Amino acid sequence: MWDREKVEAWVKNFKGEETHVLSFINLKGGVGKTTMAVAVAEMLAEEERKHVLLVDLDPQTNATVTLIKEEQWEEMDQEGQTIAQLFEDRLNPHDAPKFKIKDAIVRRVSTINDGIARLDLLPSSIRLIDLQDRIPMIALTANFTSNPLEILRNALQPVIDRYDYVIIDCPPSLGTVTKNGLRISTGYIIPTIPDILSTWGIYQIVDNVHRFAEDIDRSIPALGIVATKVQSNNLHARVISDLRDRQLGQFSKKGVLSQPPLFASTIPQTVGVARGADVDADIRTFKGKYGSAYGPLHRLTQEIKLICEKKKP
Ligand code: ADP
Ligand code: MG
Repeated sequence: MWDREKVEAWVKNFKGEETHVLSFINLKGGVGKTTMAVAVAEMLAEEERKHVLLVDLDPQTNATVTLIKEEQWEEMDQEGQTIAQLFEDRLNPHDAPKFKIKDAIVRRVSTINDGIARLDLLPSSIRLIDLQDRIPMIALTANFTSNPLEILRNALQPVIDRYDYVIIDCPPSLGTVTKNGLRISTGYIIPTIPDILSTWGIYQIVDNVHRFAEDIDRSIPALGIVATKVQSNNLHARVISDLRDRQLGQFSKKGVLSQPPLFASTIPQTVGVARGADVDADIRTFKGKYGSAYGPLHRLTQEIKLICEKKKP
């Protein structure tokens, strides 16, 4: 298994194919980030036959527990094989590190087909809640030999070439944990409910990521905004129309940054989606798991793939 993967990683590098690292970000919770990140990761792996790693950076662990059983997560958490331990190890530089990337990555995750062959997961932990405020202190505790923004990058370095895509489910903040994800991202996606309150923070996100990218001398483009949990009412229709025309309030007023484009696929509010989040529900097909949102999520995945794999001139 490992040998074949090493050869595949080598071939991918030789052909100059990069790993696309995509962060799903919004400062608000409940807008469908996790559902979308998980669905896109599953569909890239199962339908597009890509090697995909989903990194769960959110202490809420929603992506983790929709992809593996809670008992398995508990066992891994106790053994220190989650994202929380990765950061914890850096906060205690005098203790032997516990986190090992090859033990922490779970292979063949998801309920679809009883596990998707090319989909792997790096799980999160609720312990990250207690840790995250201390993470910026890592530079101090390690005598400035350890950069708190490079922790995820360093951890993934030995395995990242194995993957065509790394999908990062970010917590609803732009703190150090999210910045660890952005540090390695080749692009990001903003899921939003198309209403006034949910779209309010989008300017802040784009502005912050833009400044962070400048600071670290990288380009982190916004691939686009995705309208989620869309209902058929006038408000949603109007906000979607504004987003499509790239006329979101603060962008047109401030005029410095341009609004990222809206993806053509919009994800409807459906009962099927909420049911599919239950890992014990024994839902093995995309239609069973996502109901009528399956078609839109599938088209969104195609759009994302097209943007990422568009050959540079
Ligand atoms: P976030 O990661 O932004 O907090 P989630 O993806 O966890 O958001 O979604 C929040 C809640 O909304 C969950 O209960 C989820 O099942 C539900 N949900 C997400 N997308 C949809 C949808 N398209 N239709 C109906 N419910 C949805
Ligand atoms: Mg979430």
